[in-house]
Amino acid sequence: MGFMNRFKHFLGDQLLGNNWGVHPDDHKRPAADAPVRVMPVPARLYLPLQQHLGGAARPTVLVGQKVSKGELLAEATGMVSAPLHAPTSGTVVAVTEVTAPHPSGLSLPAIILEADGADEWCELTACADPFALTPADIGRRVAAAGVVGLGGAAFPSAVKLGGALRAEVTTLVINGGECEPYLSCDDRLMRDAAAGIVDGIRLMLHATGARVALVGIEDNKPEAIAAMQAAAAEFAAVQVRPVPARYPMGSEKQLIQVLTGIEVPADGRPADIGVIVHNVATALAVRAAVREGKPLISRLVTVNGNCVAAPGNVEVRIGTLAEEVIAFAGGLKGDGLGLARRIMGGPMMGMQIPHWRVPVVKGSSGILALDAAEVAAAEPDPCIRCGSCVKACPMGLLPLEMSARIRNEAYGEAIDYGLKDCIACGCCAYVCPSKIPLVQYFVHAKGELAAQDRAKLRGEATKKLALQRQERLDREAREKAEAAAKRKAEREAAAAAKAAAEAAASAAPAAAATVGEGV
Ligand code: SF4
Ligand code: SF4
Repeated sequence: MGFMNRFKHFLGDQLLGNNWGVHPDDHKRPAADAPVRVMPVPARLYLPLQQHLGGAARPTVLVGQKVSKGELLAEATGMVSAPLHAPTSGTVVAVTEVTAPHPSGLSLPAIILEADGADEWCELTACADPFALTPADIGRRVAAAGVVGLGGAAFPSAVKLGGALRAEVTTLVINGGECEPYLSCDDRLMRDAAAGIVDGIRLMLHATGARVALVGIEDNKPEAIAAMQAAAAEFAAVQVRPVPARYPMGSEKQLIQVLTGIEVPADGRPADIGVIVHNVATALAVRAAVREGKPLISRLVTVNGNCVAAPGNVEVRIGTLAEEVIAFAGGLKGDGLGLARRIMGGPMMGMQIPHWRVPVVKGSSGILALDAAEVAAAEPDPCIRCGSCVKACPMGLLPLEMSARIRNEAYGEAIDYGLKDCIACGCCAYVCPSKIPLVQYFVHAKGELAAQDRAKLRGEATKKLALQRQERLDREAREKAEAAAKRKAEREAAAAAKAAAEAAASAAPAAAATVGEGV
């Protein structure tokens, strides 16, 4: 049963159809309208080795080593991973732990680079005619440049492009939705660099073999829509389509359904229906990697929230501390006295961070400093069964029922209520008048289930290995016994042959003597 239909029998049509999602006050302007400010290179950059989905990068430099801007600092490991490059020229001063952009406040291994002020590029390998490259060549250049999804997911882009080629996708969906409130870095990029984005999209079409690219942009970004439509006008394969501004329109499944009319199956991937999704900023990074050989070393970050003195978008080197970005953007109003919450990313799916000494990573779309009025009061009240969460859920789920099951650790029942379809968009938590942290329950439960699945897989793998080992030991013992028996038989046969030969030898003189006696 599709996600829009799952609970129709229970809820009635009025709660589904086009009613999914929420319309939070988007808080995007005036930040979206302010010109981009380019931040100078800070004195030190803090570069976590794990800033993408998949295996952490492995350092290729030593402490004390001098590097040029763009030089490899850490290489990708395994099938799903991404390398890390020097955002400026300077000296590696430490490989140590830094606070990661993660709500736990846990540390991650990181390379710390001290800038030398020269900001000198390493040698780059440009490509004058990238459309003459094979799709595999494009994938290699994107992989070598460390490009990851810049919409927040940070999945290595080359892996996604290669998967799309193998899956023979037909449609490339380009996510220009940027549906989370407060964020406007993609909006700004589309207004300022539309031609480059469209070029990147065409390279992605070439790399995946997809026939058409559908660029979905929420209709609250008219300037971006106009800029992208103008840039794509001469390319029939790139179609820019306004979509309704509604959270979570930027979620893959929602955007695909709105743009193509096709629903991604539960537990399925977009590639299953011939679609791949990339973000607009990723397209621009792909262009830089393929045409100019430039690695991903900087990104646009939205600095926003009531506590920020001068909200806007800032071009920042990866590894810059949030506190330095905020200071560059004009600092916090009233020395931050009204600050109630620090967030990296958007308010719905971003991460609350414990302090500002957290570095910008490749997936950091925003740095938000929110005051108490912007943050719902912390302590939740009991559920009043108002149904608001059900109405808001874009996947047609029953968040209140799922959360009740999860609180009792009845994960199986939560799955029956559709936990696996939950995209952790946060709409339900956003509208809940009791401020119940519904989405946190779902993320926690998914983590628990994933851990259980991994443990089960490990158990099965261990069992299989033990069985294989026993079979090998049995086989070896059998072969040993057979070899011993064979050797024994050979020894016995040899002994018998020898005895027979000796008997024959001793019989021969006697026979000769007998013959001689007869002569
Ligand atoms: S977080 Fe999950 S349950 Fe809540 S609205 Fe989003 S999809 Fe629905
Ligand atoms: S929105 Fe909150 S209070 Fe209302 S039914 Fe859902 S969980 Fe309960």
